[in-house]
Amino acid sequence: MIKYPMVDLPGQYKKIKPEVDAAMAEVIASASFIKGPAVKVFQRHLEEYLGVKHVIPCGNGTDALQLALMVLDLKPGDEVITTSFTFIATAEVIALLHLKPVLVDVLPDTYNIDPEAVEKAIGPHTKAIIPVHLFGQTADMHAILEIAKKHHLYVIEDTAQAIGADFTCYESGKTRKAGTLGDMGCTSFFPSKNLGAFGDGGAVFTDNDSLAEKLQMLANHGMKVRYYHDYVGINSRLDSLQAAILDVKLKHLDEYAAARQKAAAFYDMAFADCEKIKTPRTADFTTHVYHQYTVVLKDVDRTGLMKHLAGKGIASAVYYPVPLHLQKAYRDVRYAEGDFPVTEMLSHSVLSLPMHTELTETIQQEIVDAVLEFVKK
Ligand SMILES: *Cc1c(COP(=O)(O)O)cnc(C)c1O
Repeated sequence: MIKYPMVDLPGQYKKIKPEVDAAMAEVIASASFIKGPAVKVFQRHLEEYLGVKHVIPCGNGTDALQLALMVLDLKPGDEVITTSFTFIATAEVIALLHLKPVLVDVLPDTYNIDPEAVEKAIGPHTKAIIPVHLFGQTADMHAILEIAKKHHLYVIEDTAQAIGADFTCYESGKTRKAGTLGDMGCTSFFPSKNLGAFGDGGAVFTDNDSLAEKLQMLANHGMKVRYYHDYVGINSRLDSLQAAILDVKLKHLDEYAAARQKAAAFYDMAFADCEKIKTPRTADFTTHVYHQYTVVLKDVDRTGLMKHLAGKGIASAVYYPVPLHLQKAYRDVRYAEGDFPVTEMLSHSVLSLPMHTELTETIQQEIVDAVLEFVKK
């Protein structure tokens, strides 16, 4: 029996139940389930929160990434650079659109895409870069945007795990929200994400008016005027119930991030003296919203530790056990085992501990004690 799961969504819901239930009841009474006013309201509030001109809601985070690539009118075989250490969706949409995923390694401290590796991977067919803001902190967007500018490439940020994180440009000193720095940002409202719905949802962000107009059409069968189709699109929408729930939770997003940061600081302190556990580092240009709290284990039997924790009712998880270049569906003559040493090292040694908005110090102390009991054996 798992006593302490990775996330505690029922506990989070309990605290906002009256607000959420009222918002849902309103949508149900209106029966305006698709493209209703609740979607517009949430869209506007999210635009304000992010400081971005356009939010285009859609069905899920994977669709958001697919729409962002579709809008660029790339040709089959065009190359898109992304990281080898991410959730599969990032590379999946590239492959689905008959584009070529070009993978690069990550940095050992932040687990985020290595800008130098990005620059080395650029060739005549490169059209776009998809940095992933993994686990809740942004990739080095200053370096990536500079590379993109120099080589005339599009930048699509995968901010499914980092909504609400602040990136500060170290030259201008200006701070902006993750997902609003590149040409487009893509996020997911999957229930366990930092801003999670009660089902699926996603969105694309952009400051570009013409991209926004076309994205909206692509997500709606390629039409603006009903039954007149200008593009081959898809059907991908955020429904009104999810939008109403998300609008309530958006008001709590900063407070949720603060709760996650507090929990992360507790883990950091508790593991500070243990040289077998490397706690996550935050780069100096970003805040960390801790979608995951992920440590790197040194000389620890990871499977044994996970079993030990499970025996005490404590969940733990490995994000991600298999790098993209070693996934069966993505095997490619260009890549072999050993090509991305940091990614491969991480996939063998990372472990994510319970991280959510409802953790207490008592719960965390129990988790920490259980981890240290095994590690120090
Ligand atoms: C969750 C996630 C996605 C996909 O989002 P869905 O809503 O599940 O489709 C894409 N990229 C990353 C990094 C994610 O964590």
